[in-house]
Amino acid sequence: MRAGFPDFRLGSVLATSFTGTLTERHGDAVERIPTPQRLVDWLAVNGLAVDSCTAAQLELARELRESIHAAATAAASQGALPASAVDIINDRSVQGRAAAVLTPDGERQWQLSSASRVEDALGVIAADAIGIIAGERDGKLALCASPTCRAAFFDTSQSRTRRWCDMNTCGNRQKKARFNANQRKAT
Ligand SMILES: [Zn+2]
Repeated sequence: MRAGFPDFRLGSVLATSFTGTLTERHGDAVERIPTPQRLVDWLAVNGLAVDSCTAAQLELARELRESIHAAATAAASQGALPASAVDIINDRSVQGRAAAVLTPDGERQWQLSSASRVEDALGVIAADAIGIIAGERDGKLALCASPTCRAAFFDTSQSRTRRWCDMNTCGNRQKKARFNANQRKAT
């Protein structure tokens, strides 16, 4: 982790981990990929290593991120998908040229067409988002119960009753708030 930058929220679902690079959208928003280098760092953590990123590529990434967020939010609330968001997700997916390769250990890896092709990495993320929004994967899109967050997350719990995008942050904060409220009532 680089000093001075907000750290990353790690999740098991690529597309919603990506939308989680902007948090507290309804409060004091925290931008976790404020510079091209931080996008490079994020991609490396998520198995999509590139060796450089331009300011324009960072812009593309953020545009994709907000489109995934908008489409996933609509899907989670059974609303119509915003057409502009769908267009951007599709453009990124079509323009990516990453290939899935199988490692000797039986794991999938992404091979980008060149080390500077951020677009390839974005294509992988867009395709992941399409899979989730299309309901192809086992799980359900939901919105975080925290009023300052409202992030779309992918609930893979057995009961599909997960309430927070992240237990360690939004979940904990909510629990603490409730605890404090109860303490106040008790005194
Ligand atoms: Zn949240």
